[in-house]
Amino acid sequence: MKKKQKVVRIHPRKKPNLAMPVCPYCGRDAVMRPAEYVYGDDTITAGSMLYVCSGYPDCNSYVGVHRGTKKPMGSLADKELRNKRIRAHRAMNRLIESGYMCKNGVYAWLSCSLNLPPKETHIGCFSDYMCEQTIMECERVLENWKGKRAA
Ligand SMILES: [Zn+2]
Repeated sequence: MKKKQKVVRIHPRKKPNLAMPVCPYCGRDAVMRPAEYVYGDDTITAGSMLYVCSGYPDCNSYVGVHRGTKKPMGSLADKELRNKRIRAHRAMNRLIESGYMCKNGVYAWLSCSLNLPPKETHIGCFSDYMCEQTIMECERVLENWKGKRAA
């Protein structure tokens, strides 16, 4: 009789636990809270939720939650990174608004330009560096395009 070999995985492949994000800055768990918890009277969408670091407000990091789900829109971000992600989104919107790319095309183009698999091409998950790259690439394309049209 063969002895059953037990396979011991040193690094068990765990599915990333999207339901319970952890703060990348301080390592504390994030807690789902109504947007009012952070924005107070400035809350734009009533009923929207956020994952907020349980160290908030000492640790000022949070991320939005997809409506009606427990899915975070990306990774928790501090003020600086949140601003960068907003700027990256704006840069991409400029490409769409200028008529240079359509909404689907712009993500395909971005994943090629940044050398990222499409699955990882979400600005909500981008690091500081990736946001900078996105903004740079968008501006480069837009400049080139404007140059050609003016010629
Ligand atoms: Zn934190």
